[in-house]
Amino acid sequence: MRIYNQKGMLVIPYSRKKVTNLYDNMVLVKNCYCQNGHSLIGNRVNFNSLNGIYLKARNEKQEGFIGLSPVYGEKCRIAWDLDLAEGEILHFFCPTCNADLPVFSPCHCGAEIITLFLKPDADYTDCIGICSRVNCTNSVVRSAGELMSLAALNNSHKRSGLIQGFFNLG
Ligand SMILES: [Zn+2]
Ligand SMILES: [Zn+2]
Repeated sequence: MRIYNQKGMLVIPYSRKKVTNLYDNMVLVKNCYCQNGHSLIGNRVNFNSLNGIYLKARNEKQEGFIGLSPVYGEKCRIAWDLDLAEGEILHFFCPTCNADLPVFSPCHCGAEIITLFLKPDADYTDCIGICSRVNCTNSVVRSAGELMSLAALNNSHKRSGLIQGFFNLG
C-alpha cells in the first residue's frame, strides 16, 4: 500500500473493507446509518456527483431536511424547509424512523456532536460525528475505535475551488 504520495505527504492507509475509503486523500463516507440501521446517504442530495448525507432536522421554529457532503471535513450543507441562523443548535433525526440521532460527545462549542454510524449495527467504534450547531466546524471520524483527526487531513490536503462553509438553499 502506498503510504506517501508524490509530494511526500503521508497518506493514511485506510482499510478497504470499511464503508469509508480514501478518495483522493480525502475520506469519503459511502454509507452511514441511524441507530436502527436506516441508510442516511443516497442520491436525494448530491455533492460533486457524490451521494450526500440526508438528515431530518429541527430548530425552534421549523422542521426540514439537511444535506451534508459525504466528504469528511467538507463543510457543505444544504437545507430544505428550514431557515438556519448562524450558531443555532439543530436537532437531527433519521428521515426514515424519526429517531433522535444519538450524542457522540459534547463539542467544545457547547453543543453536542451527534453520531452517524458507518455500519447498520450502531457500533460506536465505527462512526462519524458532526456538531449540531450551525457553522461549527467540528466533526470527527472514528474508525475501528481510532479517532481520525480532521486537522491532520486538512494540513496534508489543502484544496481549492470547493465551497467551504454553510449555504442555505431553503
Ligand atoms: Zn432510522
Ligand atoms: Zn460544535
